[in-house]
Amino acid sequence: MSVRVRFAPSPTGNVHIGNIRTALFNWLFARHEGGQFLVRVEDTDRERSTPEAVQTVFDALNWLGIDHDEEPLYQSSRRDAHLTAADTLQEQELAYLEDKGDTGRGDCVVFKMPDEVATISDEIKGELTKQAEDLQDFVIVRSDGSPVFHLGNVVDDIEMGITHVIRGDDHLENTFRHVALYRALGAEPPTFVHLPMIVNEQGKPYSKRDGAAFVGEFRERGFLPEALFNYLALLGWSPGDDREVMTRDEMIQAFTLDRVKSGAAQMDMSKLEWMNGEHMRNLPVEEFKAGFEAALAEGGIDVSSADDAYRAEVVALMQIRTNLYKDAPADSGFFFTEDFDFDEKAMKKRLLKPDVPSLLTEMKSRLDALESFDEAAIEAVVRDYAEANDMSTGKLVHPLRVAVSGISKGPGLFEMLAALGKERVSQRIDRALDLIQSSEN
Ligand code: GLU
Repeated sequence: MSVRVRFAPSPTGNVHIGNIRTALFNWLFARHEGGQFLVRVEDTDRERSTPEAVQTVFDALNWLGIDHDEEPLYQSSRRDAHLTAADTLQEQELAYLEDKGDTGRGDCVVFKMPDEVATISDEIKGELTKQAEDLQDFVIVRSDGSPVFHLGNVVDDIEMGITHVIRGDDHLENTFRHVALYRALGAEPPTFVHLPMIVNEQGKPYSKRDGAAFVGEFRERGFLPEALFNYLALLGWSPGDDREVMTRDEMIQAFTLDRVKSGAAQMDMSKLEWMNGEHMRNLPVEEFKAGFEAALAEGGIDVSSADDAYRAEVVALMQIRTNLYKDAPADSGFFFTEDFDFDEKAMKKRLLKPDVPSLLTEMKSRLDALESFDEAAIEAVVRDYAEANDMSTGKLVHPLRVAVSGISKGPGLFEMLAALGKERVSQRIDRALDLIQSSEN
């Protein structure tokens, strides 16, 4: 039997990463198995399920490259089928009418839970059992005539021929009811796979309060879809070896349900940032350049007056060390403006020291004298001076870096100076010397 799975979001206007991870696991499983990945929009809550909310779901799927097979099924169009199923259950005396008395609007349809021990089997949680007295009859059609989630969910899964229900483990308890409904409707229950929750550092369900929680926020923060995809795939699954940075095809190849973890999956933003950086490195240079320069422009830094070779050099230096585009103005802005800010801490630690002005002056005159301003020549200047004066190269490297960039991190100093070029370096050292002098007065 060919695998058919579905993602069944209730559109609320935002897509939580826990939900999209569910979609992603379904998708990876379907693609690994050569089966079908379907989407069912559980839009029966008329107030929340606006067209915009539905669009948000599809935008998130599209952005992450999670494509679906067949036309999406809208649960709101299935009302008659749900009510017919409830009628059938009533005819077979597997459900009954009851006036719950609280609305005064008439009878609900109530499903009769079988009077027996219930066992469900889950691929991750194993076998779970409940005593009959712990499983109450439950409403499947409200007194206003609207079908309840449990009924619609099961009737539609049967109609869609779903073979594996892969969803969040907040639905584990519901599964006792769902399995009973399947049987009552004459259908074999599918295989259930309940995914462990995504949790925060304290082990609590990961929410908005913990940082970005919705797909759209990650997109706005400049994460690459392939990095978020990769990260979420590893949130509760592993390929069975120590690979972490993987392509979509590698994940499809390796994805099996037996490697889904049973423990809660802890969200770690710094790891996601690292992974984003790893995917940045793998981007075609032109693509990185476009995103990088757009981020600089957004930070008010104009690169258009720099020549192409210089821009390419900066890109080569920064693609290997940029984790997020949004960091570009702060980390790389100095390449393109003489008006960069000096980080206060860096300045205090590296420039406002008694011997720094004379060392910078020494460096400047030696660098100015270089005929070929390349990495090796620059390095020789710094090393020779340090050696001759019996000091560590760090005593020169750190002040020089801050003098020409305003910050204390970045590419290797020698390659950075070479990229900036003699003229810029010389002028910037002068400017730093002025700045040191004016801060001292
Ligand atoms: N609409 C439900 C949810 O988003 C779907 C549950 C299921 O996948 O069966 O939680």
